[in-house]
Amino acid sequence: MSIEVRNITKTFGTFRALDNVSLTVESGELVALLGPSGSGKTTLLRIIAGLEQADPGSGGMFFHKEDVARRHVSARGVGFVFQHYALFRHMSVFENVAFGLRIKRRRERPTKAAIRDKVHELLRLVQLDGLAGRYPHQLSGGQRQRVALARALAVEPKVLLLDEPFGALDAKVRKELRTWLRRLHSELHVTSVFVTHDQDEALEVANRVVVMNQGRIEQIGTPDDVFHHPATEFVMHFLGDVNTFHGRVNEGTVQFSELILPFPETRQQIVGDARVFVRPYDVTIDTKTGNLPGIEARVVRVHSAGPVVRVELVTSTNQRLTSEISQERFATMNLARDSQVFVRPRHIRVFAG
Ligand code: ADP
Ligand code: MG
Repeated sequence: MSIEVRNITKTFGTFRALDNVSLTVESGELVALLGPSGSGKTTLLRIIAGLEQADPGSGGMFFHKEDVARRHVSARGVGFVFQHYALFRHMSVFENVAFGLRIKRRRERPTKAAIRDKVHELLRLVQLDGLAGRYPHQLSGGQRQRVALARALAVEPKVLLLDEPFGALDAKVRKELRTWLRRLHSELHVTSVFVTHDQDEALEVANRVVVMNQGRIEQIGTPDDVFHHPATEFVMHFLGDVNTFHGRVNEGTVQFSELILPFPETRQQIVGDARVFVRPYDVTIDTKTGNLPGIEARVVRVHSAGPVVRVELVTSTNQRLTSEISQERFATMNLARDSQVFVRPRHIRVFAG
């Protein structure tokens, strides 16, 4: 089931929570809506679900090319999982998962035996088969979210909507559940929209990422696209640490922090003031100047307890920047506080400033 959101605007009073948002989710895709708190992710998800209506006269909503804007939530065939697991406390895991099947109209309701089989199949799928008799308070947070997912899947939704489903869990469990959700999705292929404000989660789980900011879509692309080819400064900042410089573009060069680098005028038509961005892992450090142009800098702090070494630096013009180098490279360099070094950006991105 594909989903098409076409030019949707949503205002609450005078506040515009969604501003002319368009988005297509292909059948079987897992798309992440990624953005800071308040960017409109939940509002968009609720409009897709039918829990919220877009502004009258604004745009349209299509499931498999069929207009569903006026179709009630119960008739849209969507399953939900929210951040705060809304399991029924007085029901066992089994009963929670069976719930959606049991409340079906008599004509559509499966037999008792079919319900039992279905629930056990789902519990196997979410790897909780041994816990059917437990009650929610006897489960960990991660287990409860898996039950919530099994419950959402029980009625075989055509679309699965997940609103920060792992948001309330601790970092380690979140990571496990990400991998697990990825695998589950590749087994089921149910069209899914996953809301998160965590860029690592979005990049790891989704086929495509929709980056949102202040009710608008900044960029839609594969995790690779949005990470390596951010369309806007916002996306650049939101998807990881970045060093920012003020610069100038002039006749095929860009100048910043005493460096002049070639800047072929390709896609972007930038002239004059510019903003130059360099990811920390694209900043190399040398103790000697060599032949290549570099920026003189002094080491302010070295943070080596991690998979890579983060080196905080300050240039002679008082610009702070961060470099990430491998442990191997670090071991050969003998860096310490106040070491004088030369830094070079390996890869820059330039936006009009
Ligand atoms: P996100 O899920 O990205 O954090 P939301 O979609 O929940 O963002 O909210 C987007 C903006 O719309 C926020 O500023 C929020 O305060 C506002 N908003 C959401 N729902 C309502 C509502 N029912 N009434 C008024 N404002 C709302
Ligand atoms: Mg939200």
